[in-house]
Amino acid sequence: MKNILDILNNQRDCFNSQKTKDINYRLTLLNALRAEILDNEQSVIQALKKDFKKSEFETYLSEFALVISSLNLAIKNLKKWAKPKRIKSSLLTFPSKDYIYTEPYGNVLVIAPWNYPFLLAMEPFIMAISAGNTVVLKPSELTQNTSKVITKIIQNVFPENIAISIEGGVEISTELLAQKWDYIFFTGSTKVGKIVAKAAAKNLTPVVLELGGKSPCIIDDSVNLKLVARRLVWGKLLNGGQTCISADYVIVKSNIKQDLINVLKNEIIRRYGEIPKESSDYPRIINETNTKRLETLIKNENIVFGGEIHKDDCYVSPTIIDEPNLDSKIMQEEIFGPILPILTYETDTDIEKIIWNLDHPLSLYVFSNNKKFVENTIKKFSFGGGVINDLLIHFGNHRLPFGGIGGSGMGKYHGKHGFDTFSNAKPIIKRGNWYDPSFRYPPYKGKMSLLKKVFKYFG
Ligand code: NAD
Repeated sequence: MKNILDILNNQRDCFNSQKTKDINYRLTLLNALRAEILDNEQSVIQALKKDFKKSEFETYLSEFALVISSLNLAIKNLKKWAKPKRIKSSLLTFPSKDYIYTEPYGNVLVIAPWNYPFLLAMEPFIMAISAGNTVVLKPSELTQNTSKVITKIIQNVFPENIAISIEGGVEISTELLAQKWDYIFFTGSTKVGKIVAKAAAKNLTPVVLELGGKSPCIIDDSVNLKLVARRLVWGKLLNGGQTCISADYVIVKSNIKQDLINVLKNEIIRRYGEIPKESSDYPRIINETNTKRLETLIKNENIVFGGEIHKDDCYVSPTIIDEPNLDSKIMQEEIFGPILPILTYETDTDIEKIIWNLDHPLSLYVFSNNKKFVENTIKKFSFGGGVINDLLIHFGNHRLPFGGIGGSGMGKYHGKHGFDTFSNAKPIIKRGNWYDPSFRYPPYKGKMSLLKKVFKYFG
């Protein structure tokens, strides 16, 4: 393995040489990356199948297609995004031409998780490169097949002094975090996010933390339950429930709880059959440790559907839990698996007691046809982003910023927001020389009343 400090020093020299500031060079790299990824479509799909039996359809929909559309977007818009933007001058700067220049931060570290191992490594990578940074990417050690494909793709396109993928686990991550970076982009758990933030603070390095948490799904009694079940089962069981923005638990109006449980059971069977283990569309849990963790979560709970666990195959069947205690383990930690606790409410205060008892969630979902209830709910609670009457789809619009708040993270990306995240907005004023009023220069005597008037009318 190459020395991390040598790699970083080479990338720093390269950045200082101004090579990555050249937009045409960035475009050449992005086009080459797109060609290489398209050539590797089958390798990516097969790697994810090996890593946790993720189906071809889900890999294409939730990883491959999103990476290609991120690349297409960056290639199409890069010149526009990177161009200095003319901003209206102010009275204080007159005569001047005012601009915002976007400059890359410099040497960027991207640390990725395992749950969407291709997408969540490549999307920040693409935006960091688009913005003109050099990148060291560390993909997850838990999806080794996918990480190997990522390393190969990057190796085939980028000189090491511009971008490299370094595989490894906690040890490598720790070594990387010990270096001085200009920017760190981390996706993963809240627990590790705190470690990353601490390491970044040592050098005052700006950091984006894309973390997890317990995202609620609130359902009132004005809904079409069959439609709710269809969308909820899809959003909960995609990727085997191992999605940061999955609905972690449901809070349903108590009078329809039993009906909801019944339609959910039917819907799960309709989509994955009586034995989901035999469905080629049903993924596995990433490893035995996580399978055991899920087993512990449901141990003393009231299981009303599923609950089947085969540790040797990392299989956890779709499971519904009826009314767990708020201080139970399953209601305290992020589930990250195909297990859905159902809680009930009578009044808005009941919902507040549940949600305010936990960290700010990454997502919040409301199923309701009552506009007032929906508006009150989305304004009352703090969360990263949300959807009314569906799950997950806010991730799919690159025009919307994506990220968490509080315990679910800080900083946003996606599309142009991603380019902006990896760019320092540098205000520049080009001062005109044809007029230089003496008003701001001392002596100030006799100028005070004019100053006050100017600020009163124009300030
Ligand atoms: P994780 O925090 O265990 O690992 C993420 C990365 O950090 C990996 O590359 C890992 O090698 C590294 N890492 C692990 N322990 C470390 C340590 N002690 N010091 C330094 N680095 C360390 O997360 P995970 O299990 O890979 O992913 C699941 C978590 O990520 C869930 O909490 C999920 O909600 C969250 N997540 C968030 C988003 C988002 O966009 N907000 C997306 C996907 C996943």
